[in-house]
Amino acid sequence: MSKDEIDIQLKEPIQTKDLDPEFKYELANTYLGKSIEACFKCGACTGGCPVSILTEVYKPRQIIGETLLGMRKEVLAGRMIWLCATCYTCEDRCPQKVNVTDVILAIRNIAFRKGYASKALIEQAKNMVETGWIQRPTASMNKRREALGLSPLPKKAVEDIQKIIKATGFDKLLYKKEDEK
Ligand code: SF4
Ligand code: SF4
Repeated sequence: MSKDEIDIQLKEPIQTKDLDPEFKYELANTYLGKSIEACFKCGACTGGCPVSILTEVYKPRQIIGETLLGMRKEVLAGRMIWLCATCYTCEDRCPQKVNVTDVILAIRNIAFRKGYASKALIEQAKNMVETGWIQRPTASMNKRREALGLSPLPKKAVEDIQKIIKATGFDKLLYKKEDEK
């Protein structure tokens, strides 16, 4: 299902039969997502979130609330989970000590495993694995730096990065063929 289809679907009323009551437990059973069940939907996380101030389409309370409701498909395939800047302000604001940022990261992990990450994010991850940079460095970058009197781009510890991604199994997810997702 494309993101546009999800957006269209969100304009329609949600049907109980389409909810997945196990979704919140799937999160609660992960190390990062275990605090989700304490949320009482006060909205303090959204109120203090700098991304929410910049764009009204982003609301961490909505992510947590939809997850608790069981809106699995909408949460995983939606764009919102990828907008979090991981600044952790929401965790300071939450009166229920929900680790909001960590919960969102746990949701991202599930979304990534299920193949919902955007092509742009996957491309950035591949760049990181192969070059150490999320944007591939180009020769013109160093020329521009030289013209500005800056040193060449520092070399990244690509081998170490590759060891870490192999040890975590991230490489298998990243280079999975589209039809295996
Ligand atoms: S601040 Fe905490 S309790 Fe309030 S909506 Fe956000 S996660 Fe839920
Ligand atoms: S960690 Fe994410 S959700 Fe929390 S305040 Fe920062 S940008 Fe907003």
